[in-house]
Amino acid sequence: MMTLFEKKEQCCGCGACAAVCPAGAITLVSDGRFSYPRIDEAKCVGCGKCAAVCAFKLPKDETPNCLAAYAVKAPKAVRTASASGGAFTLLSDAVFAMGGAVYGAAFDDTMRVVHARARDAAGRDRMRGSKYVRSDTAGVYAQIKADLAAGIPVLFTGTPCQVSAVKAACGENDLLYTVDLICHGPASPEIWRRFVLLLEEKYGNRVTDFSFRNKAVSWREYSPEVTFADGGTAGANDLTGSFTEVFRYELCLAPSCAACRYASCHREGDVTIGDFWGVEKVFPELDDGAGVSAVMVNTDKGKKLWKTAAGAEVVPCSWEQIAAGQANMKKSAVPSPDSENFYRLCEEKGIKKALAAYTRTGWKRRTKDVVKGLLRR
Ligand SMILES: Cc1cc2nc3c(=O)[nH]c(=O)nc-3n(C[C@H](O)[C@H](O)[C@H](O)COP(=O)(O)OP(=O)(O)OC[C@H]3O[C@@H](n4cnc5c(N)ncnc54)[C@H](O)[C@@H]3O)c2cc1C
Repeated sequence: MMTLFEKKEQCCGCGACAAVCPAGAITLVSDGRFSYPRIDEAKCVGCGKCAAVCAFKLPKDETPNCLAAYAVKAPKAVRTASASGGAFTLLSDAVFAMGGAVYGAAFDDTMRVVHARARDAAGRDRMRGSKYVRSDTAGVYAQIKADLAAGIPVLFTGTPCQVSAVKAACGENDLLYTVDLICHGPASPEIWRRFVLLLEEKYGNRVTDFSFRNKAVSWREYSPEVTFADGGTAGANDLTGSFTEVFRYELCLAPSCAACRYASCHREGDVTIGDFWGVEKVFPELDDGAGVSAVMVNTDKGKKLWKTAAGAEVVPCSWEQIAAGQANMKKSAVPSPDSENFYRLCEEKGIKKALAAYTRTGWKRRTKDVVKGLLRR
């Protein structure tokens, strides 16, 4: 019987193991917070393919592999609809121009975050914007393999662990381009599901979209905006802003994110993208408050992809200038000491009580802030 992991820290739930299992013996099952692979002993043929694709069995690589780095600003209209400087749109346009398919994270009809496939700008635009929730990649590996087999160039974008999984599950292929995000770890899909239900209860309306970073307000502030089925919207308030706090205070990180093997200057993607935090110090002339992307080109394939991603203001820099503003290129995110209590309260008393207790608007967080302030004096 195969053992894929002993502790949850050793599994990021990427599903590469399930994708390569020739017997269909592995399914991903939620523990109520995140999903983990479960092997059906009756079906397992003991071939070991699942363990062979598991990146967590390899040592962490900390060797820098960036070949070229840039500060990038797509045209303003693109940036307004994107989380950072719009690098994803430039890269996906380059792949559409090759006749390719783009894979990225989007909301489905029930507001679950899932990896979707797009063949045109309209489909791709649903992937714009950061969704700070672990996305479900079920079925995506098979779709990518089918595209590659049909000679269709593919761009896969996602967290570094997802990119690593796609490369392991689909194998080396000249037509497969990958873009990883600088990542500090997505939140639990189950907590997100409960949060969406709470929004729907409070507003008496179905949620159809959620922007974690409404650029009309700010690039830096992570200001939320909810869209409802009747076309109405709700901007930042104690409730809509509370999920961002859950994410930023690391209240519901996956155990593997706290031991992230990709929190490193060795990058998984052909290209890496993120926010160019600190751009105001390095290139103040670029900072118009609407977002600047950090782009690192890490492979020859990445060079080819980036060369064709035209239509932007591009300023060469060093990867060290990018890493200076990125804690998660050096070390994993640290879960909040309140994390377990937050989860428990959520599971036992409901998300409304957990948010009230542990986000800044909640009394526990407010008390902590006051105590911290007093100690700092
Ligand atoms: C969980 C998470 C943590 C992040 N942490 C950091 C960080 O610490 N530092 C930093 O500089 N940047 C971080 N980012 C990346 C940043 O927020 C932007 O997504 C990135 O700069 C791309 O912006 P853009 O303007 O080029 O693209 P946009 O047009 O906004 O496109 C968004 C891109 O992100 C992908 N994406 C969105 N949500 C998810 C998701 N849940 N899972 C996988 N892929 C997703 C889409 O597929 C698309 O490729 C994080 C993103 C996520 C999703």
